[in-house]
Amino acid sequence: MTMTPENVIAMAKENKVKVVDIRFMDFPGVWQHFSVPISELDVSTFEDGYGFDGSSIRGWQPINASDMLVIPDPATARMDPFFADPTLVLIGNIADPITREPYSRDPRHIAQKAEAYLRSTGIGDTAFIGPEAEFFIFDNVQFESRSNSAFYEVDSVEGIWNSGRDEMPNQAYKPRHKEAYFPVPPMDKFQDLRSEMMLTLQDLGIVVECQHHEVATAGQSEIDMRFAPLLQMGDQMVWFKYVLKNVAYKHGHTVTFMPKPLFEDNGSGMHTHLSIWKDGTPLFAGDKYAGVSQEALWAIGGILKHCSAVCAFTNPTTNSYKRLVPGFEAPVNLAYSSRNRSAAVRIPMYSASPKAKRIEFRTPDPSCNGYLAFSAVLMAALDGIENKIDPGSPLDKDIYGLPPEELAEIPSAPGSLPEALAALKADHEFLLKGDVFTPDVIEKWISYKTTKEVNAVNLRPHPHEFFLY
Ligand code: GLN
Ligand code: MG
Ligand code: MG
Ligand code: MG
Repeated sequence: MTMTPENVIAMAKENKVKVVDIRFMDFPGVWQHFSVPISELDVSTFEDGYGFDGSSIRGWQPINASDMLVIPDPATARMDPFFADPTLVLIGNIADPITREPYSRDPRHIAQKAEAYLRSTGIGDTAFIGPEAEFFIFDNVQFESRSNSAFYEVDSVEGIWNSGRDEMPNQAYKPRHKEAYFPVPPMDKFQDLRSEMMLTLQDLGIVVECQHHEVATAGQSEIDMRFAPLLQMGDQMVWFKYVLKNVAYKHGHTVTFMPKPLFEDNGSGMHTHLSIWKDGTPLFAGDKYAGVSQEALWAIGGILKHCSAVCAFTNPTTNSYKRLVPGFEAPVNLAYSSRNRSAAVRIPMYSASPKAKRIEFRTPDPSCNGYLAFSAVLMAALDGIENKIDPGSPLDKDIYGLPPEELAEIPSAPGSLPEALAALKADHEFLLKGDVFTPDVIEKWISYKTTKEVNAVNLRPHPHEFFLY
């Protein structure tokens, strides 16, 4: 059922709501909120919205044009699972108070336009997204000391910085390096915590398929939501991070979606499954390679062609590129395969059902803003279909056994955030179609990321420089 403003008011009454929390996503990808008493919510609020100061939101308005509106979307109503007073949460869209036009830098609006663009092409009506977000669970003290770099110690034998894998005090039943996928407790120390996260998500109406420990030793975990349409998954992704962080925090832990928090251990990816449907029929099932359709192959062609530019949104942090290196199950090769997990695109073979046919883009990581990342991936896939982009032959060989000449022929993912931003600067026509991403968004993204993140990191002495010099 699509909720109307009247439904939301009834839901608030039923749940004895006292507080309404209004939320929206900032440009880099952190949920923002403010609350109003229930007396300030009525049917007209869903048209009039609430005013706020857009100049204090990262990457948005200049101080001289700072007034903005957030207009709650009734379809997003959910009860917050954490607050003491019964609180209704509504996600809003951002608009200009004078023109009432949607704001071009609102990530949620970009996702809405990506869905509209898909429909306008006639290729399909629904893009389904299934993210497999991985994350690390640290305890608060350990996390704080690591982020202050005090946790780094020189291993004098190896001459490398100890990553902090060996927690203090040493806990018994510690999984061995890269062997934490899937031993039972007491090796796995986070079963209860992950189940609480999973069940909290389920209570919110977000369908979870699985939770498990991941390969890295320090509590790396994964929780998988069932696939959903793009905008809905954008909203669910924000709830997902919010729930995981808050459940962890309640128990003295910290969850981080930073892609590579530990040196020499696996990083956290967010493999993103994509399928496009039209009139209830899956478009990616067919009789080509690995049981996919010609459209799916073209979609892969588009994703591989534009991958470096797409990475500016799917792998948007300086830390993202510390994950995309060989040896840690993260993809480095811009190639596709049905079985090769070192390829950027995989065609999962778990199910023979046409409904389950999808492509798995393995490059993204969970530091991304889901609305922007999913939209960029869809736009690259659509460009592939519209222009019949051939993805070449699949990479089914074990690339670790390939001779260097052959390996050199396979293009690789960008090596750093500046490389991805340069690729985006050179290649973004496919994102501008249907005004999904506007030139202003592309420019602002590049300048924001360059000044606030790339330069901010590069200008600081690194702990390892003290070891080297
Ligand atoms: N952690 C790996 C990555 O960075 C993925 C591991 C897996 O799920 N097979 O993508
Ligand atoms: Mg998985
Ligand atoms: Mg995984
Ligand atoms: Mg996967």
